[in-house]
Amino acid sequence: MQGLLGPTKSDEAPGPGPGPGAAAGARLGLDLPPSLKSPHVEDEADRFDSQGNYQLVHNTWVRAMQGVAARSEIEGMQGLLSDTGYRLGERDLRGTSINGQFDDATKAAADAYMRNEEDEAGVNALRFSAVNFPHEIIDAPERPRFDAATEEKLGQLDPRVHAMARLHLEAMKQAGMDAKVSQAYRSQEDQDDTYAQGRSKPGIKVTNAKGGESYHNFKLAYDVALRDKNGKYITNGSDPAYRDAARLGQRYGLEWGGNFHSKFDAPHYQYSKDMSLPDLRQQYPVPHGRQGSR
Ligand SMILES: [Zn+2]
Repeated sequence: MQGLLGPTKSDEAPGPGPGPGAAAGARLGLDLPPSLKSPHVEDEADRFDSQGNYQLVHNTWVRAMQGVAARSEIEGMQGLLSDTGYRLGERDLRGTSINGQFDDATKAAADAYMRNEEDEAGVNALRFSAVNFPHEIIDAPERPRFDAATEEKLGQLDPRVHAMARLHLEAMKQAGMDAKVSQAYRSQEDQDDTYAQGRSKPGIKVTNAKGGESYHNFKLAYDVALRDKNGKYITNGSDPAYRDAARLGQRYGLEWGGNFHSKFDAPHYQYSKDMSLPDLRQQYPVPHGRQGSR
């Protein structure tokens, strides 16, 4: 351990460099800490990077515990941990912390990495499948099914959103939440009817969106209803349960209505990547002969 924890040499001498792990990190495109990565999987490489890095840390960890890891392997792991924001104890992140020793700080950082990134890699893989191969998720016989009304609404959605919603519902179920899908597709005519409510028709206003102004009209949005422990619907959107549900939904690349500036909409989730409402209206015009209901 001689010198490993001692003071750093001097300010003028360049550090020993980021080490082989950092080079591996750069090669794998790891230039951002996990928290700054895009919530969307941009391409296939992202999926395999996170899994490849996870394997690298995991394999090194196992070999180090067995006492057979080479110093350079451990340096590689330390570089990757350092690059991805896993602090090696209180020591300086760059240079001095990469010492090739599988010490307590390195072990703790590797443990934390594996705890977080295994989950992250799994979520990335699911998100990738939801966007690119949604039927792998929708049709998988081993995945749980939900109540009939929820299944019917799920079936109305664009397959990508259907797959994301299914993963979201599974995650909520696993977290002990009682959730169902209360709204999914609304035709533009239905949307106009809903808009008229509280305006030209009796009732209270429930939406600010006319036909064609909501992602619901394009099968890209759904609403979640949550029930409390007594089976009673939670009608207050500010209830923390809706925020907990959103934390899970956003992992799969869904946007949450609770983050909207125009109207706080706690039950609402949508997937709008690359698709603005004007684009969608142009792509899916309302059929001729429609009778406006406003
Ligand atoms: Zn909605």
